[in-house]
Amino acid sequence: EVKDKGRAHYRFFHTEMNESFSNAVMLESHLRRAIEMDELSLHYQPQVNLITGDIESFEALLRWNNGKFGMVPPSQFIPLAEKTGLILSIGRWVIEEACRQLNSWNNKGINTRVAINISPKQFFQSDFVGHLKWALEHFSIEPSSLEIEVTEGAMEDTRTMVSVLQEVKETGIIISVDDFGTGYSSLHYLKRFPIDILKIDQSFVREMMRNEKDAAITQTIIHLAHHLGLEVVAEGVEEEEQVNFLKKFHCQKAQGYFFSKPKGSMETEAFLLEYKKESKQLQ
Ligand code: C2E
Ligand code: MG
Ligand code: MG
Ligand code: MG
Repeated sequence: EVKDKGRAHYRFFHTEMNESFSNAVMLESHLRRAIEMDELSLHYQPQVNLITGDIESFEALLRWNNGKFGMVPPSQFIPLAEKTGLILSIGRWVIEEACRQLNSWNNKGINTRVAINISPKQFFQSDFVGHLKWALEHFSIEPSSLEIEVTEGAMEDTRTMVSVLQEVKETGIIISVDDFGTGYSSLHYLKRFPIDILKIDQSFVREMMRNEKDAAITQTIIHLAHHLGLEVVAEGVEEEEQVNFLKKFHCQKAQGYFFSKPKGSMETEAFLLEYKKESKQLQ
């Protein structure tokens, strides 16, 4: 009896496993063709200077719209892309697309900076910096108009990372640490890596008006950035009270749904036109 139960359970589990397995395989095979099928795009979320109210930069966020799966969220396909190595070709696409967009915006008189997310694996590609330089030149982009966001997870292989980031820094590209405060070796690498910007992780910002610890951590990261001569950006700002709190502690920039959700490039252009009209009132 026990054996039978075991077998039935096994069979059930087996089918479920097969299903999710074939789903994952299918998702991967679709992701493999996402670039050639023209299914990827970048959305842009403004980063607002809290003193002037100006939109100084945008974060580029990858979107995948697949014929079979529809809109697949980054939380699902980025880990898959990282596991399969597809992140290398996707990451190259992101770099080129961001530079192409910057070039197009420059031609329309929109001068801004775009921050792109870089996966740990990309830093260990032998031509990573070479490709960045190529893209800047090919699309006639000022290096300081491009920013790369590095997560703390990438900071592990210290020797390689220090030299790659040093090379990136020498090109004039801006370097920021994404999701700051969620990794484990933060203070150590602040000393060793040529960083320009800290981005306070949204998990601290989200609760900071209700949770004293989150408020204390946010203040401390802002002070830390000031003492180190770094710029600081708060992520995930959704409420006006959060903006006021951040202003009070002299956080330079903020990003979040309070200002705008990430939007496609056309919508972003429209938003910029609208925003200029309102920027005086916003201060
Ligand atoms: P991230 O780089 O920390 O990006 C911020 C995420 O927070 C984005 O989610 C953004 O849409 C969301 N967000 C912005 N403001 C708010 C807010 O006020 N409230 C809330 N609740 N969320 C907000 P998204 O676009 O789903 O991206 C998730 C993650 O996927 C990113 O986190 C990043 O780690 C990764 N990712 C996105 N695009 C790329 C890419 O091109 N390359 C790589 N390697 N990773 C990417
Ligand atoms: Mg980011
Ligand atoms: Mg982040
Ligand atoms: Mg994140």
